[in-house]
Amino acid sequence: MKIAWCITGAGQFLKESFEVFKAIKTEKLETELKVTIFISNAGLEVLRMYGIFDKLNAISNGDYMEEIFIEKEQGSSFPKTGRFSLKKYDAVVVSPATSNTVAKIAYGIADSLVTNVVSLAMKACIPVYIVPTDGTAGKVDSEIPYSIDRDKCRGCDDCEPEDRCEREAIYGSPIPQIDLLRCDGCGLCSELCPYDAISGGVVEIKAREIDIRNVELLREMEGISIIEHQNLKEKILSLDLYHNSMYKIPETHPRYESLMKREKLVEGIEAGITSKHGLIAHGRGEAFDYLIGERTLDSARRATEFAAALLLAAKKPVISVNGNVAALAAKEIVELSELINAPLEVNIFYRSEERVRKIKEHLEKQGARKVLGDKADAKTPGIEHARAMVDREGIYSADVVLAPLEDGDRCEALVDMGKKVITIDLNPLSRTSRHATVSIVDDVERALKNLISAVKAKKQKEGEGKSVSAWEGYNNKGNLREAIKEIIDRLKEKGLI
Ligand code: ATP
Repeated sequence: MKIAWCITGAGQFLKESFEVFKAIKTEKLETELKVTIFISNAGLEVLRMYGIFDKLNAISNGDYMEEIFIEKEQGSSFPKTGRFSLKKYDAVVVSPATSNTVAKIAYGIADSLVTNVVSLAMKACIPVYIVPTDGTAGKVDSEIPYSIDRDKCRGCDDCEPEDRCEREAIYGSPIPQIDLLRCDGCGLCSELCPYDAISGGVVEIKAREIDIRNVELLREMEGISIIEHQNLKEKILSLDLYHNSMYKIPETHPRYESLMKREKLVEGIEAGITSKHGLIAHGRGEAFDYLIGERTLDSARRATEFAAALLLAAKKPVISVNGNVAALAAKEIVELSELINAPLEVNIFYRSEERVRKIKEHLEKQGARKVLGDKADAKTPGIEHARAMVDREGIYSADVVLAPLEDGDRCEALVDMGKKVITIDLNPLSRTSRHATVSIVDDVERALKNLISAVKAKKQKEGEGKSVSAWEGYNNKGNLREAIKEIIDRLKEKGLI
């Protein structure tokens, strides 16, 4: 597991964050943990004041993906943050995050090393975990670096702490001061002063309202999670477990494929692509997949053949993509869109511009060249929810729409607009399956793979645009009846009914 740990200029939670990472590095994790540290300019100064900077190599030893990057050595374009676009990290942890950093992230500013890391990580759908210093209303304890108590200091002519400070950070008379930009927090001065005049300490502070509001804004941003500092270790350990589970499901597990799909969906949610409600929709699909035996039925193969013919004969085919499809079958949907020269259009029920953007970027990362859906400049008549919003040049003017995992009412509305709708839905009873022109009763990934093969075979055999007539007698309702019959026959064969 690879984590980017970002440190900004706060003393609060700094030692705690360091201790968490140090402890985790020495603990036995399920996977190897690599931590790259990204330090803001202010973070560097504070790390030195607290004497932590020199200890960071216990966490990041300088090897590849275990380096320590300091803002002032990173120019203005922060080239190392390119690693986030390349998805080299599994997670970003910003701990501690000052109110300044929180405010910048909340308003989309990315002009420093850490805010740039967060921005690029979010764009690459890498989950970001933030431990804000000022997220709680009321008074909290905050730790401050070493200072000299002017009431206790006797202004000795011969000040041992001053004489023996290797960094010459203590200066001035009669009462000296500490230059915190020189101090490395070693604590020697505190030990040497016979009058206990030098100490670091805890002060009580109160978060500003604006800071609390900004933390709330972050909470609402997809891809960002706010973590209480005392939960940081637990969170990182759970990330490791999660990360590990991606690789630990044994391929011999009888339901391996199905479990991996769940992992992909959870990953989709973490990345802000899939909505939580998508899990419920998937659960309904899984139940039907169980009934059909997690394989492709003959009736689905027939429907796939017709769908391929229809797509190749279409004047203006468009493929509609929602959060589940993007998480489960991005590679396949992009390949199909290239094969039939149809744009993809993001269309989601729980719509936010942020999620549309994330899905679009996710598809583009898989090689998609044309992804529509962000204009949403036309409305599908007869639908009141967000899926009504479509692009005029896309679904609105398409003659054939492939809409896997569709809503029944939108499917009906698209058909009412005179379009031919191909759907992929494991549930042969759904309103979608019943309203579509062609319903492929199969899992989306299996169905898309079969559809790709069918399109390729047809293209090779017949060339483009000739096949639809051969299928004019296709009867969708009849084929759905066949699907249900196949399910019943299978259950009978197994002696279950
Ligand atoms: P209806 O079509 O009856 O209006 P709905 O729109 O309420 O149903 P959702 O709750 O949005 O349906 O669920 C989406 C549909 O997608 C379900 O019918 C489910 O069977 C199907 N589905 C879920 N996951 C998959 C999958 N991996 N592959 C194929 N179909 C799936």
